[in-house]
Parts: sequence; C-alpha cells; structure tokens
Amino acid sequence: MTGRVFEIREFTLHDGPGVRTTVFLKGCPLRCAWCHNPEGQSFEKETMVRKDGRRVPCGEDWSPEALAEELLKNADIMASSGGGVTFSGGEPLSQSDFVLAVAALLKPKVGVAIETSGYAPGDVYERVISQMDFVYQDLKHHDADAFRKWCGGELGVVLDNIARLRRSGVRHSLRVPLIPGVNDSEADRGAFAALAGGSPVEYLPYNPAAGAKYPMLGRKYEL
Ligand code: SF4
Repeated sequence: MTGRVFEIREFTLHDGPGVRTTVFLKGCPLRCAWCHNPEGQSFEKETMVRKDGRRVPCGEDWSPEALAEELLKNADIMASSGGGVTFSGGEPLSQSDFVLAVAALLKPKVGVAIETSGYAPGDVYERVISQMDFVYQDLKHHDADAFRKWCGGELGVVLDNIARLRRSGVRHSLRVPLIPGVNDSEADRGAFAALAGGSPVEYLPYNPAAGAKYPMLGRKYEL
C-alpha cells in the first residue's frame, strides 16, 4: 500500500495541541472556491511552476512505514510537548486505509489528529476518527444550496458525519473558514452556532493569500 502526499510541514502550531508535524495528503472530492491548497485537490501528481521558473513536483508516494519514520523524526519533541502528527490535505479521508496504517505506527509514540472536510462515507469517517485523539472538522457553510455552489458537494454528507463525530465522544472542534460575502454575516454565525449543537466552533479569518498558488498550476483563482 502507498499513499500520496504533497507536503510535510514540521513544527506547525495551529493544527492541534503541542508541537506537531502536519502531513498533507493529495486529493479531495470537493472544490471549495477559496481553497488555498489547490495542489491538494487532484489525486494525480502535478508540477507547480514558481515565478522564477523553478519546477516543483507535487505529489509523492510513500509506504506507511517510510512515512511514519519520516514523521517521527521529531517524536521526542512532539511527545514532550503533548503534540504529534496531524493528517491534513486535500482530504485525508480519501486515503483512509493509508491514514489508518500510518496512524497505527505513530500512535505508540505521539498523538494523532486529523483535519477533514468530513466529505466521506459514514463508515469510513467513523473508522478513521475512532483512531484519532483530536478531530478538526470543517463546517464551510450551513446552507445546502450555497455548499453545492461554493464547494461542489452535498452538505448533508458533512452534517451526518458531524453527528457521528458528536456521538463518538472523540475530542473535536468545528472550524468555519470565514469567506467575505459567502458565509461571514451575523445571520451566518447564528446558523453555524445552531448547526454546531454545542460542539466548540472556531472561526478562521479569510486568508488573503488564498489564491497565490493557482497561477503556479496554470489555474485561475475565481473568488
Ligand atoms: S475541502 Fe479543503 S482541500 Fe478540498 S477543496 Fe475544500 S478547502 Fe480545498
């Protein structure tokens, strides 16, 4: 078994408790208009061309053992800070068997967390979150039509999985990326709070550099 990864970022601070390494898995079933990691959307390997003409390969295949070894390079620092590894993407649930295999190798030494859109079949979602110490669950919109328009998917899939998350008892936080004119009004906040049903909600400010990578892939940032 191999999994496809497009970035490994060490010493991340916003992806869970303590000192962490975040691993970004390639491929996502959604197409959020504000996605700031467009190189994480396609499951295929790609090449990004920087302004200086340098070509950067994007997407590397790893065995679970090799990736776990790489991710555990800073295991002592991570463990002593209560940190660990966070699976992100792209959508890590799209490579669920691989994530579970890597997590099983990591867990004896460090904590494991996942950042997910929640866009996956319910059985896959339950299987993966049951192995995580912490789940960051995106809540991108509260309205089904808007979710279809801006993210290209069905909101019900995500809401069903959020209900599963709440039932699971796994520690979690819902994350709302605030997008101007899309989901950032007072009425939107009220709707998000109602959907959250008591789960903690973090509102993330819009990233003005969200479109920076699109030209490197020969794509246009539409937002
Ligand atoms: S779910 Fe995440 S990775 Fe997928 S398109 Fe949306 S923002 Fe990008």
